[in-house]
Amino acid sequence: MAHNAPGKAHRKGITLLELSELFPDEAAARTWFEGILWATGDRPCPRCGSLDTHEASHKKMPYRCRDCRKYFSVKTGTVMEGSPIPLRKWVYAIYLDATSLKGVSSMKLHREIGVTQKTAWFMQQRIREAFGNHGGSFGGPVEVDETYVGGLEKNKHEHKRSHERGGLSTKAAVIGVKDRETGQVRARAIESTDGETLRGFVREYTAPGAQVYSDGHGAYTPLEGEYKHAAVQHSVGTYVVEQAHTNGIESFWSMLKRGYMGTFHHFSAKHLQRYVNEFAGRHNIRDLDTITQMAIISRGMVGKRLQYAELVA
Ligand SMILES: [Zn+2]
Repeated sequence: MAHNAPGKAHRKGITLLELSELFPDEAAARTWFEGILWATGDRPCPRCGSLDTHEASHKKMPYRCRDCRKYFSVKTGTVMEGSPIPLRKWVYAIYLDATSLKGVSSMKLHREIGVTQKTAWFMQQRIREAFGNHGGSFGGPVEVDETYVGGLEKNKHEHKRSHERGGLSTKAAVIGVKDRETGQVRARAIESTDGETLRGFVREYTAPGAQVYSDGHGAYTPLEGEYKHAAVQHSVGTYVVEQAHTNGIESFWSMLKRGYMGTFHHFSAKHLQRYVNEFAGRHNIRDLDTITQMAIISRGMVGKRLQYAELVA
């Protein structure tokens, strides 16, 4: 029933029709989530961790912990906690976010699954939170680069950058590193583009001694004692000097920007990190079967909360 997804012969995609067959009703969605989140067969209490739990007759909270005596469901202790939205709609939202390379607008999700646009937006922010599991550091070679996204109102004290970067003070900066060995990326929205911030990010995600490629930005030059560093000088028209290029991370930026232009119209600076997480997270699982991508996103929901009030504060 699964078919080969376009472009990647080795990964299995799922059509919308197949998705509706896999998840015909709420019970099927619940069974799937429980199988993913409680994969070991244990059903730990999401509040106290006790394994002494049993089924209960409570309709919305079908399990109970004998130790803390509280009821719970598969949503408890995840970003879905407190959400009255059926699990089946969460499945569809996760599916759409996993399979839409440029992201899904809240307007589209609202129309596709029949929730208000406000609810759709809140669901997506919570799924982005689930995407935000950063792995460890890379062995390299890595490409590091910064980019600027959007026409965002930035802090007034960023005048300096607008001089350096030709009047981009209303845009928000993002730094990223891509590992050539694994093809994985890490990316972060940054308040400041000073050298310490940029180098700190490289150190956080790159093993000491690794080969680092960057553009000619002087901020990366001091890394030369700690890393094997090579820079490509865009300014002299030499885009690819042997291996010294940043084409990999730049293609990730172009996807992030196409999402920004085509789908979201504007990223609010406050939420930019969650959008960056979504794009990096989706990039990092892009070669996996769709159902595996959905499982990874679902597992990323565990242990996180995101309240509507804190989003709009
Ligand atoms: Zn408990």
